Order: sequence, then C-alpha cells, then structure tokens
Amino acid sequence: MGKVTGFMEYERIEEGYEPVEKRVKHYREFVIGLTDEQAKIQGARCMDCGTPFCNNGCPVNNIIPDFNDLVYRGDWKNAIEVLHSTNNFPDFTGRVCPAPCEAACTLNINNDPVGIKSIEHAIIDRAWEHGWVQPQPPAAKTGKKVAIVGSGPAGLAAAQQLARAGHDVTVFEKNDAPGGLLRFGIPDFKFEKSHIDRRIQQMQAEGVVFRTNTLVGELPAGSKVTNWAKETVSPQQLLQDFDAVLLAGGAEQSRDLPVPGRELAGIHFAMEFLPQQNRVNAGVKMKDQIRADGKHVIVIGGGDTGSDCVGTSNRHGAASVTQFELMPMPPEQENKPLVWPYWPLKLRTSSSHEEGCVREFAISTKEFIGKDGRVTGLKTVHVEFKDGKFIEIPGTEKEYKADLVLLAMGFVGPVGTILDAFGVAKDARGNAKASTDERGGYATNVPKVFAAGDMRRGQSLVVWAIREGRQAARAVDEYLMGASVLPR
Ligand SMILES: Cc1cc2nc3c(=O)[nH]c(=O)nc-3n(C[C@H](O)[C@H](O)[C@H](O)COP(=O)(O)OP(=O)(O)OC[C@H]3O[C@@H](n4cnc5c(N)ncnc54)[C@H](O)[C@@H]3O)c2cc1C
Ligand code: SF4
Repeated sequence: MGKVTGFMEYERIEEGYEPVEKRVKHYREFVIGLTDEQAKIQGARCMDCGTPFCNNGCPVNNIIPDFNDLVYRGDWKNAIEVLHSTNNFPDFTGRVCPAPCEAACTLNINNDPVGIKSIEHAIIDRAWEHGWVQPQPPAAKTGKKVAIVGSGPAGLAAAQQLARAGHDVTVFEKNDAPGGLLRFGIPDFKFEKSHIDRRIQQMQAEGVVFRTNTLVGELPAGSKVTNWAKETVSPQQLLQDFDAVLLAGGAEQSRDLPVPGRELAGIHFAMEFLPQQNRVNAGVKMKDQIRADGKHVIVIGGGDTGSDCVGTSNRHGAASVTQFELMPMPPEQENKPLVWPYWPLKLRTSSSHEEGCVREFAISTKEFIGKDGRVTGLKTVHVEFKDGKFIEIPGTEKEYKADLVLLAMGFVGPVGTILDAFGVAKDARGNAKASTDERGGYATNVPKVFAAGDMRRGQSLVVWAIREGRQAARAVDEYLMGASVLPR
C-alpha cells in the first residue's frame, strides 16, 4: 500500500490542459501529464482495498493497487512490468480510456477517486523515455500461421500476444496504415499517431507482418467505410493459407438518418469527416476535404464521436458548432449509492465541448432543408422518452441554420458482407456470433475462424478491444497447440 494516511492527506490531482485559445490552433495532444512528484502523491492516495473495485471495473483487469504502490515508491520500472502484464498498450488507454476503473474506485464514493488513468499515462511515458519498452520475440517458433483481419486495438493486441507465443502472424488491413479507429477515427489532438507507429515497429521486431492496403473479402457497393485497399484477398485464400483466422474488423457501419433531404450535399457521416483530417495531419494531400471553416456546423449525436467532430470543426474555424442529442440531458451528479461501482450515467463535458459548442438535448431532426442541392438548415422538434418511445412535444418545432451536418449517431455493426463471405453466423445485432467462454471462446461457427473486438461485441471502447484481442489470442493458441500459457 502507498502511504497509509495518503488518502486523507492528499487531494486528487487532475492532468492539466493547454489553454483553449492555444490548443484550438493545432492538432497535437494538449494534455499536460503529471510530474514525478504529482504521480507519487496520486499513488500515495491508494488505499490498497481488500476488494479492489478498480481492478474489477477495468476491462483488462489492470493490477491497479500494485502499480499505484510502485509509483508511490518511485519504482517506475516494476510499475511498467505490472502494467504490461495485463495491457499490451497502456500508451493507448492512458490517453483515450474513459477510465471505468476510476468510477469503480472506492474513493469515488467521495467523488475524488485515485487518478488511475493519469498514473497509467505517467508510467508508460516514462517507460518509453527510459527505453524499457523493447520487442519480446519468442524463444521458439511453433510453425503455425495465423491471419488477423483488421489492425485496430483488438487485432494489434491479439497479434502481439500470438507472435510472442511463437506463431507466424500476418495482419491484413484495408487502410493504408495500421491502427483502426485509433488512427482514422480518434483525432490527433486526443491521440497522436506516433504512439501507434512505435508499437508497430516493436511488433514487427517480434515477427508480426503487416499487409496494409489489403481488403479481405469485399465491401458492399457504395460503402462509405474507410478503404484504401489496392489488393483483395479472398476468405477462401486465407482459410487455405493459414492455420487460424481472427476477424477483428471493427463495427464500421455508421447509423444513418433517413429523413427528407438526406441526399443534400453537405451532410456527411462523422467517419467521412474525421479520417480526412487525420490523413491531412499525416501529410496526405487532399483536394476535396470536408471542411468546417466559416460554416454553421450541426453535429447530430451526443457521444464521443460527436465530441470529436466538435473539436475538429472548431480547429477548422467553424462559425458555430451545435451538437444534438436525442436523449434528455443526464444529471450532473449521479445517484452514487445506486450506481457505484458501476459506470454512471451523468453529464460529461469533454475538452472539445469546452472549446466552444452549444449542446441541445432531447431533440430530434425531422428534415434537412436546402437550396440548389446543398444543405442550408434543418427542422427539429423536442421529444420526450415515454413508455419506451420518443414522443414529439407539440409547439417545440424549430429551424436551425446549417452549412455542414455531421452524423455521429453511432454504428449499427460490422460490415456484413465480410462476415457473410466467411459464412460466419451473426447475433441479433449483426455482430459476429462468438461467446467469450473460458474454453472455446471467441470461436465462430466456422472451423478455425475466431472473432474479437467491435466486430464481435459492437462499437465499444479501446480497452474492451484490447481485452478481447488478448483473450481471443489465448483461445487461438489453445486451438492450435492444445494448451496455452497466454494470460486471459
Ligand atoms: C470517432 C471515434 C472516437 C472514439 N473515441 C474513443 C475514445 O476516446 N476512447 C475509447 O476507448 N474508444 C473510442 N472509440 C471507440 C474505439 O475506437 C473502438 O471501440 C476500437 O477502436 C475498436 O477496436 P477494434 O480493433 O475492434 O476495431 P477498429 O478500431 O474499428 O479496427 C478495425 C480495423 O479492421 C479493418 N478492416 C475491417 N474489415 C476489413 C477487411 N475486410 N479487410 C481488411 N481490413 C479490414 C478496418 O479498416 C480497421 O482498421 C472511438 C470511436 C470513434 C469512431
Ligand atoms: S479502489 Fe481505489 S483506493 Fe482501492 S485499491 Fe483501487 S485505486 Fe486504490
């Protein structure tokens, strides 16, 4: 345990942000991490609870009390060993995880949980600085070949685990660089892509082969998902060439809003808008980038993706940004005794919201209006959620001006044609059907084909993708070798 009286002596310290006026002028990360001394104080606050709820609240079951104690003692090297024992990529989660561990922390009963995410961030940054993150190639090779479709956090975590177990792993990715939504969805100001690049180098040194610009199967005609494939590989070819195949293709199919006027120019999916900016930041020249400069922007959808559209639009120099959410405004403070240690429903204000945005709740878009084929506005009505349905409130109809509309209403599931091409059965929501049982988990109905991450569970979080990638790797290893020493 850190310091016995630490939780009574020290306050929670939040990571800092660069001021708004400065950070909206660039696309770099703007979080100011903890100093050694601040991290030590955060670690000292941990009570090393007999039942560490944080550990259970964390999808990868990070051994949080142990690394909190190590940081308190200044033993950063052992802290990264503990962190890496459950999480391949704390550099990803230390930046973008919403930190369900902190919601579960016992100190959150007083609204001041241990700053677990900021400690994780501090540990992995120091580990990279000191050269402690090194490739771990396997001592012996098994001669077994595994294909992984998709290079998001699920595919990457699985690939690293399987390569370290001695298998020959090839990752197939239709985009021109690995990383999945980490690279093309999440904006650089939340997560710079160099974090992925150095992990790819580490994994290549561990033997993982990346085949980017390669689509497995085919996409439906007119599909708007990101795809820069220059070649195609058929599922039959993969099944013939590899001993096992793991499908980790994400849940990329955006939810549409089929109301009158949807065909007007200037209405785009968030996942058309966001990847373009990330590519421009990476040096790709783009002629027809969707831009928000000087425009009145309406973002439809109140979640993470919508918030990323708000931050990107403000960096473009939008005239105004308004975000719509269909659900009513949640309470600012959750009913703690009712929800702790679970993830609470409460009003969340992101750093992008702080940069400038009007937020409207309980609002539904009825129609897009336009002139000369371009969107100029939209018609809305306020709604009430009653008996499982949204009821329009008479007299609340309104028109908003809009030159650019971004649809960020979530994702309906994976691209079905890819699962169909493998003959993989789907669950009721269209995701790849596979259980997470301890034995035989992650296996689909098709022999030697497994599924993990958003493709199996639906659009979720990076940390869940890492968990599923790790667990699926163990399932694949067991299938290939009869037993596995990989952790679950
Ligand atoms: C805009 C946005 C912001 C987000 N912000 C956060 C956040 O702040 N924190 C958080 O925890 N989560 C966030 N998420 C969710 C998170 O990014 C995902 O849950 C996570 O990336 C899922 O990982 P995955 O590996 O399952 O799939 P993905 O990351 O979607 O990766 C799947 C990959 O498979 C590739 N692929 C698919 N089909 C094929 C095929 N047939 N052939 C070859 N390649 C294929 C795709 O091109 C893609 O690269 C966000 C999501 C979005 C869209
Ligand atoms: S729940 Fe909070 S105080 Fe308890 S062990 Fe976990 S981080 Fe420490």
